[in-house]
Amino acid sequence: MTFIAQVLTLYPEMFPGPLGLSIAGRALNEGRWRCDPLQIRDFATDRHRSVDDTPAGGGAGMVLRADVVARAVDHAAAAAPGLPMLAMTPRGAPLSQKRVRALAAGPGLTILCGRFEGFDERLFEARGIEQVSIGDYILSGGEMGALVLLDACVRLLPGVMGAPSSGDDESFESGLLEYPHYTRPNEWEGRTIPEVLRSGDHAKIAAWRKSKAEIDTRLRRPDLWERHEGARVRSPSGARHDED
Ligand code: SAH
Repeated sequence: MTFIAQVLTLYPEMFPGPLGLSIAGRALNEGRWRCDPLQIRDFATDRHRSVDDTPAGGGAGMVLRADVVARAVDHAAAAAPGLPMLAMTPRGAPLSQKRVRALAAGPGLTILCGRFEGFDERLFEARGIEQVSIGDYILSGGEMGALVLLDACVRLLPGVMGAPSSGDDESFESGLLEYPHYTRPNEWEGRTIPEVLRSGDHAKIAAWRKSKAEIDTRLRRPDLWERHEGARVRSPSGARHDED
């Protein structure tokens, strides 16, 4: 089954862009996913093909019009019915690996890319559009966010990554950051690979990796660590570890 990625944008030339290369590009050529960019401007109705107008209440910048974008959204929904619809906005819920996994398990998605000051707010409720953010910083447009989201989804599609299990170990899959990696040469600029990784003792290596993942998560991402620990305390299987 082909995963469908519809993208509503003022810059359709930006797609598939970097997703035409490497893992995602190969998957695209193999027909595992499809990228259908739609030009929002094609749904404008006035002589100037305008898609934006000044903000109600005043202030800087321009706002994408609900009526024009809704026509594009309705066209997209008719062309590929049943796809979840997401809009890129810094006001949205932060994108997570969990959400990415759920999207990748579905038939595809439609992504709305904002520009200027963003969309007329009425659009989201009127069309049941999920608002997502790729992080607490401001991009000039939603296209890069859409590429990020699509890259994260496409690598999870069946047959895209080598072994079916590859990816299971990655950061965030278990609620922790992944352990650090090393490869040859064993000594580089006076620094050596941790001894345990060359011991051939798989149980010891697994224990070392688990402990590194926990330590690094605690130090670098106290927010993730707290959530992880919270889940462990609540789960019956984790409870017995928490008595000490
Ligand atoms: N005025 C808006 C920012 C607009 S930036 C605000 O302050 O919330 C223009 C467009 O870039 C947005 O409509 C959105 O589509 C995209 N964008 C910017 N930052 C983003 C982010 N962190 N995540 C997802 N999309 C983003």
